[in-house]
Amino acid sequence: TYTYNENQKLFKKALNLIPTGVYGHLGPAEGCFIPVQSYPFFSSRAKGAYFWDVDGNRFIDYMCAYGPNVLGYNDEDVDMAVAEQMKLGNCTTAPSSIMVDFAELLVDTVEMADWAFFAKNGGDVTSFALMIAKAATGRKKTILVNGGYHGVAPWTQKLGYPGICEEDVINNIYVDWNNYEQVEKIVKENPNDIACFMATPYHHPVFTDNELPEKDYWQKIRKLCTDYGIVLAIDDVRCGFRLDMKGSDHYFGFKADLMCFCKALGNGYNFSALCGTDALKDAVSSVMYTGSYWLSALPFAAGIACINKLKKLNGPKLMQEKGKKLTDGLVEIGKSYGFNLKVTGVPSMWYMRIANDDSLTLHQEWVSQCVRRGAFFANHHNLFINCALSDEDIKLTHEIADESFKVVKNNHKEI
Ligand code: PMP
Repeated sequence: TYTYNENQKLFKKALNLIPTGVYGHLGPAEGCFIPVQSYPFFSSRAKGAYFWDVDGNRFIDYMCAYGPNVLGYNDEDVDMAVAEQMKLGNCTTAPSSIMVDFAELLVDTVEMADWAFFAKNGGDVTSFALMIAKAATGRKKTILVNGGYHGVAPWTQKLGYPGICEEDVINNIYVDWNNYEQVEKIVKENPNDIACFMATPYHHPVFTDNELPEKDYWQKIRKLCTDYGIVLAIDDVRCGFRLDMKGSDHYFGFKADLMCFCKALGNGYNFSALCGTDALKDAVSSVMYTGSYWLSALPFAAGIACINKLKKLNGPKLMQEKGKKLTDGLVEIGKSYGFNLKVTGVPSMWYMRIANDDSLTLHQEWVSQCVRRGAFFANHHNLFINCALSDEDIKLTHEIADESFKVVKNNHKEI
């Protein structure tokens, strides 16, 4: 199995230079997402479905940079489009005309979109969506779902977290996923206070089985929002273009007022987009919102190549099929050793855990064994498929999973 000497040496160095060495969701500080002892801290290169760490170990990557790797790392069509744009310019005083080309493509692609607005991170557009909702309604409060993730802006965090004060979160009202009655009750009790309902298209929290919307859930929420003048904002930052090129609201049969996109927009080139309906265009135009690099040209070139290629490949369908093949196999192999591997969410973005024990330690052990053999999973976060994943990769992953189950079984004869 793999060793990580160079990774650990570099991590020690990084700890002296960068707080926590590798911070945020890519690092070990949030420990339990990844099996720290079995974890490669730094990559040296990446191609297609793989990345290599600084020890030279190769991983079939099921985290896909937490989403952005959708076509395969260093996709040649995307990188060529970027190289062409680089010859023309990137960060310029007046934005490049390619911004308008990309806006046109996005508006043509995403079913609900009458316009598109660009920023850099997912959190930029979730925060902007709330500002727009407040500007449009003159109201203050937002309904959010317990366990939902919308970034790191103070309003997205919890009271009690370091750096967060009461004023940051005072306008948030939390409900449970799939509980329509709870939302209805809050709206009826506060008919003139709720600016926005924001949620992901299905529930993909960490540490917990993922949940799809119950039948008619979104249709009922849509009607409630329309009846009470509430802006319905969907955070499609993670699911966007892994369920449906027309948007995940379209996939679940409703129409959002605002849609937040980021991860799969440009195959790793850095930008995000907010799409919306004409009814909100004046509100959007009225809000002060901008950033130094938001209108840079390279990501737009990447975005055009990426979205066009995803459409050509029918990327969401392809990734659902690959994910189904992979996870069906993992479940079968687990079963043959007495493990109940529970798979939830959607196959292109599935969540899994060994359900034999609630403490999740068996699952962590198994994931560790898989990572040390070259199948990169995180412990308690949803995983991702990309279009470059081949049948051969899936077969190899099944072999790695089999060996890993065998090791865990040997350590736990009671299973
Ligand atoms: N919303 C969701 C659903 C996300 O998954 C993320 C990123 N993990 C964000 C918002 C925030 O995006 P970013 O980290 O690019 O600000």
